[in-house]
Amino acid sequence: TRLANQIAAGEVVERPASVVKELLENCLDAGSTRIDIDVESGGTKLIRIRDNGQGIAAEDLPLALARHATSKITSLEDLEAVSSLGFRGEALASIGSVSRLSLISNTADDSSEGQQAESEGRDMEVQVRPAAHPRGTTVEVRDLFFNTPARRKFLRTEKTEFSHLEEVVKRLALARFDVAFSLRHNGRVIHQLRPALDEPEQKRRVASLCGPAFMEQAIYIERELPEFKLQGWVGLPTFSRSQADLQYFFVNGRVIRDKLIAHAVKQAYRDVLYHGRHPAFVLYLSLDPAKVDVNVHPTKHEVRFRDGRDVHNFIFSSLHRALADVRPADQVE
Ligand code: ADP
Ligand code: MG
Repeated sequence: TRLANQIAAGEVVERPASVVKELLENCLDAGSTRIDIDVESGGTKLIRIRDNGQGIAAEDLPLALARHATSKITSLEDLEAVSSLGFRGEALASIGSVSRLSLISNTADDSSEGQQAESEGRDMEVQVRPAAHPRGTTVEVRDLFFNTPARRKFLRTEKTEFSHLEEVVKRLALARFDVAFSLRHNGRVIHQLRPALDEPEQKRRVASLCGPAFMEQAIYIERELPEFKLQGWVGLPTFSRSQADLQYFFVNGRVIRDKLIAHAVKQAYRDVLYHGRHPAFVLYLSLDPAKVDVNVHPTKHEVRFRDGRDVHNFIFSSLHRALADVRPADQVE
């Protein structure tokens, strides 16, 4: 069944990046406005994520580490309507079964009321004891795959694992301008992002995540119809030439990779400009959530639109218009 598949897909803890993705989604689900990520050795040695969200009550701490113990869903109907990022209730349990995991959390303003729970591998004896912590949660994942050598073998170099992990952080930081993020690797600050609440601030965040060169030449797009809204930045082909993989498309705040969207974007570029270019873009589409199914597969970034043709037309025409407007003579070879 679909529910069973979605649950099964949640079992995948492939590499440090997938751990970070699950943990960050939990932070966001908890309403955090600030998230600090600290990793060592590409995340294989340590992943520590601290948030200022609602926290986990002391009596729920051991439960949070148990399989299928989600606090976010109680029925199949909920699953259909789910708006939170997590709904499978086993990310923490899965991560805990292949690492040394510590959870410190506090739901109160008084930091002395914090509680800590730890587990080590599959046979978890979850102990809860007091530990000082401000309101929010810190999850520490050490020695990923320490007890599953077969999976550990599939890890790549520290550099590669970190770049996957950084990509996950980047996507969420691009999706959530309202949240402050920091990322440190082996003690070095990689990203430090304060909340970006207006367009200039957002532009600064995109520049710092995607490189200033992209932002210097990108054009800003904003178009709204009754049923759709598109917003974001697209690169001009003189830039796009060298940036094949700077392509971010968000639907209702979630990053997706979708053939229909890719096609619409490509067509617009091709029509206005010239062939053979890889467009660079950071774009945000909003539409009625009832008209898009984002749960096609929880770990792949796929969506299904109810009116695919309308979505295609809207994206194509919005980009076409924006690109045609700015095409200066010297952009044409
Ligand atoms: P899911 O997110 O699918 O519910 P998880 O295994 O990811 O399942 O998390 C289990 C539960 O632990 C969540 O339902 C939530 O109640 C709690 N939890 C996990 N991380 C956090 C966090 N950072 N802040 C608050 N609660 C959390
Ligand atoms: Mg979760």
